[in-house]
Amino acid sequence: MNKPNVLFLTIDTLRADRLSCYGFPSPITPNLDRLAAHGVRFEQAITGGSWTQAAFPVLLTSSYAAGYGGCLGPLAAERPAPIAALAAHGYTTAGFSTSPLLSRTYNYSRDFRHFVDFIPDEKEPSLREMRGGQKLLRQPITHVVMKSLGVQTRPAQLYVSAEKVVDGVMDWMRDAEQPFFGWVHFMDVHWPYHREETLTRPAEIARAWRDLSHLHAANWYGATISPAEKAHYIELYEQAVRFTDAQIGRLFDFLEQSGRMENTVIIAVADHGEEFLEHGRWGHWENNLHDEILRVPLLMRAPGVSGGMVVSRQVRTIDLMPTVLALCGVPPVDGMAGESLLPLVGKVGNYTAEVSISEMWRDEWHIIAVRTENHKLIWDSRRADSPELFDLRADPAERRNIAAEQPQMVAALKTHITAHMQHVADTMPADAVIAPDLDDEIVGRLRDLGYME
Ligand SMILES: [Zn+2]
Repeated sequence: MNKPNVLFLTIDTLRADRLSCYGFPSPITPNLDRLAAHGVRFEQAITGGSWTQAAFPVLLTSSYAAGYGGCLGPLAAERPAPIAALAAHGYTTAGFSTSPLLSRTYNYSRDFRHFVDFIPDEKEPSLREMRGGQKLLRQPITHVVMKSLGVQTRPAQLYVSAEKVVDGVMDWMRDAEQPFFGWVHFMDVHWPYHREETLTRPAEIARAWRDLSHLHAANWYGATISPAEKAHYIELYEQAVRFTDAQIGRLFDFLEQSGRMENTVIIAVADHGEEFLEHGRWGHWENNLHDEILRVPLLMRAPGVSGGMVVSRQVRTIDLMPTVLALCGVPPVDGMAGESLLPLVGKVGNYTAEVSISEMWRDEWHIIAVRTENHKLIWDSRRADSPELFDLRADPAERRNIAAEQPQMVAALKTHITAHMQHVADTMPADAVIAPDLDDEIVGRLRDLGYME
């Protein structure tokens, strides 16, 4: 059989519970649902990191975020390189990135022959930098006046939209030699959720500016989020999910029309979810390792794997690159920490992982979640002697810490933390990781995306 193509789709910040195939009552994801119907849906897929920089080394290199000197700097050269292994076995490889944290600056181009950094080229309205300008931008009248003067006052795009990304991917696929591996990242579901390019009415534009400053105040200074504001943000979020799904649908149509669908592996996964105040905050705070963040949608369609299958046991995003290599007939790469998922979808072999490790890592601060299908232990280096234990069957919302009641379970799960810390120490590179130089453009986008105060 011909080696299959692979499309590896990563959707930033997508909660599993917003997909109809995961039980969302409103059909806002018909195309991802179509993927589930023709492929495998993993009911309990756990990401290895609680935010983009911790999640992506896991997804693309099958190595833990805190390993190899950590995840805040550029992707370390020492990490395993499964995508480069695909290239060495005859694959055309291309990466399409839309997040500043996954850009060439952070060395995410490392393993790709062809790499596109989608960077929005819009400038913020100059009013924003003027004294009192932010206040004015939150008033509709400002936009009425500025519109009459022909001045553009909506917020600048923080990332390139899924529509442009899909256009770029289709342009590449038209001429790409097969077999190919394409990684495509979508940012539209990420805060601030707005599709800025569609904002035209003064009231809408003013609202968008108010949303931006309110969420920033809520994230960094504890401003409250009212039920009405919560409903508004969720509505924006769901519109972004619907939009992203529709664009992904265009990719699927293209594969079908060009006769490539049958020989293409498609994987769709999120790097992490999003918290809607479940544990008191909004967004994907890196220190939240609860399931609204860790449990991500994971769908996979592959030649020879029957459609409509549901895998209910726990799997991990660290398993995805080993799975891709197995599907492509490429031997495993040294150092990968995951296992192929193919034994779970009817192929030979055993899948043995009972425990997933997810983490938040920042130089001196490390939080680790050890999760089994029944329990989760969350250990925080800042209060190392008082880990939290949750019973995921009896308490799926993770409200009641039962660590004091179950010391034996705590001790058993803690052994995985000890082993993980050893692994982190063993993979530490000899030279310290150098932080990348960030220009003003990246710093501005990171601030507006919520990563900096
Ligand atoms: Zn992310």
